[in-house]
Amino acid sequence: MFPDVRLRRLRQSAAIRRILDAPLPGPEKFMWPTFVIEGEGKREAIDSMPGQYRLSIDELLRDLEPMAATGIGSIMLFGLTEDACKDHAGSEAWNENGTVQNAVRAVKKEYPDLIVAADACVCAYTDHGHCGPLTDKGAVDNDAAIDNLAKICVSHAAAGADIAAPSAMMDGQVQAIRAGLDQNGFNETILMSYSTKFASSMYGPFRDAEKSAPGQGDRKGYQASFGDLRTALRESAFDEAEGSDMLMIKPSLFYLDILARMREATDLPIAAYNVSGEYSMLHATAQRGWGDLKSMVQESTAALARAGADILISYWANQYNELFKD
Ligand SMILES: [Zn+2]
Repeated sequence: MFPDVRLRRLRQSAAIRRILDAPLPGPEKFMWPTFVIEGEGKREAIDSMPGQYRLSIDELLRDLEPMAATGIGSIMLFGLTEDACKDHAGSEAWNENGTVQNAVRAVKKEYPDLIVAADACVCAYTDHGHCGPLTDKGAVDNDAAIDNLAKICVSHAAAGADIAAPSAMMDGQVQAIRAGLDQNGFNETILMSYSTKFASSMYGPFRDAEKSAPGQGDRKGYQASFGDLRTALRESAFDEAEGSDMLMIKPSLFYLDILARMREATDLPIAAYNVSGEYSMLHATAQRGWGDLKSMVQESTAALARAGADILISYWANQYNELFKD
């Protein structure tokens, strides 16, 4: 003990810290979530998420060029549709010529080595904004919803998506989607479920971006409760048992304890979704001069890797060079 042992020896200079510290995650660990819209030459800034846009496919391809050169490992596509295309079930979500399906085809043609994940849900496609068709009582009909999720994932896989990523938090969704993919010849398609997704107050900017806030009520009836640790862990364990290839925690920074527990409980890869509110929170702090953006981004991202995340689903991905290189 002190005075023989002095821990400060091991951090006394930048040179010694450099050889002892774990490196920051490389660009290959990042999955960039982004929003695709119809049309050409369209680039709509998302006010609550500085540096993020809703992009038409041609603009998306343009933005991916520097990211592919940087070595960003993967992207995740979210689609938007016109109000006129919305219906009770959200059937536009499995249109084989829908926005996401067309975007997947275009991206895989231009950047065949970039791994493309496609979010699968109907909340941006239903006229009521919930993640599945509603029963007479207004609840989401779980078993009808999972059949539709399978149709969406099959349409994404047919377009060339590498990863199907169902986000609806329906019971049995992984089993239904795996069966749908396999029956249609897509047994190579990776299934990454949003396995532990919380009903969180940190999704506000995303709903602004995706225009997907529920018309009535909230999603607490299907998304996990932040107060119930054990059920949150069971959600991921169930998805693993149903055949998910990768697990996910969403949000991530407020849930590092659960991420660390998941890391101990499974050998599956785990993705941490560093959500819109977590992104915008750091931007807002930096804009007010209350913190340095680059330092905050590096520290929070290192925390996700340290807690056990293999893949970082992160809006910082399109600013990797500015934020993670010296
Ligand atoms: Zn949804």
